[in-house]
Amino acid sequence: MPTVPENAPEHCPGTGSEAAGKAEACAGCPNQSICSALPKGPDPAIEEIRHKLSNVKHKVLVLSGKGGVGKSTFTSHLAHALAEDAEKQVGVLDVDICGPSLPRMLGAEGETVHQSGSGWSPVYVRDNLAMMSVGFLLGSLSDAVIWRGAKKSGLIKQFLRDVDWDDLDYLVVDTPPGTSDEHLSLVQLLTGGGSGQGAGIDGAVIVTTPQQVALIDVRKEISFCRKTGVSVIGVVENMGEFVCPSCGEPSTIFPRTTGGAEKMCEDLGETFIGSLPLDPRIARSCDEGKSFLEEVPDSPAVKAFRSIVDKVVSFCEAKNGKKEDDTGETMMETEW
Ligand code: SF4
Repeated sequence: MPTVPENAPEHCPGTGSEAAGKAEACAGCPNQSICSALPKGPDPAIEEIRHKLSNVKHKVLVLSGKGGVGKSTFTSHLAHALAEDAEKQVGVLDVDICGPSLPRMLGAEGETVHQSGSGWSPVYVRDNLAMMSVGFLLGSLSDAVIWRGAKKSGLIKQFLRDVDWDDLDYLVVDTPPGTSDEHLSLVQLLTGGGSGQGAGIDGAVIVTTPQQVALIDVRKEISFCRKTGVSVIGVVENMGEFVCPSCGEPSTIFPRTTGGAEKMCEDLGETFIGSLPLDPRIARSCDEGKSFLEEVPDSPAVKAFRSIVDKVVSFCEAKNGKKEDDTGETMMETEW
């Protein structure tokens, strides 16, 4: 397995990559002559991950252009909603390395991860809902993860390859905001860099708020998905309105100055899968590690959320059906 030296610069492409020793980041690196001479080829971890995740039916990424748009709230509740069906097994993987908030949102803060001969055992937050997060590996809540790109990529590889999930119907992956090294590593490892040899990804849900400054970054996120061959399941507009829990009257928080996410999706030919209103009871449920779907079933956000989840499930089931119909064709069509 390729290793990344401790002294590698931040944007090290990885010693096993085709670009090792030749990439822009390699200029001036003390390992350049060694890396240039190393044998090149596909990362063997791609096959290991494919094997490890062969019992996972659907893999869904949750992305956002910006932080603070409610991506982790969406991820945790997508998992809760999927796990409401007791027949379904759901896993959540939190690769938001610098801001892991899912342990708190899923009521698993303070849990520790156990290691067995076959890998890391995930933490179960209900009988059919398991999770793994870098938050479980931190010493304390206030510990910061100050890691460079190569080390973050190494942890993502470990998370994909070494977590001992049971058979899963859905694996929902929470990612950091933006399009960083972590996203590229994640997608490369799951898809085999477009080779069709990886475990595959059903698609990505992109979460945003309606204002233009957030939508600009969503366009970059969509561009990232297109370049890497990841299907966009749809765009979710979060916090479009505030609905007063007392009187039920809506008011606008972030004005849709350019038409909001729906108009952007129309312009880009992507699917808009729904708008979620802001309800302060959602934040309280998340802080308490509970599902707002169960805590405040009367919230207008719950109806909107369930409609979005139905669309995600329909997309994944349709994609799975298509895969089964295919005769050896891969999900990934884009060459990098
Ligand atoms: S030469 Fe390039 S690939 Fe090798 S360690 Fe340095 S940055 Fe990474």
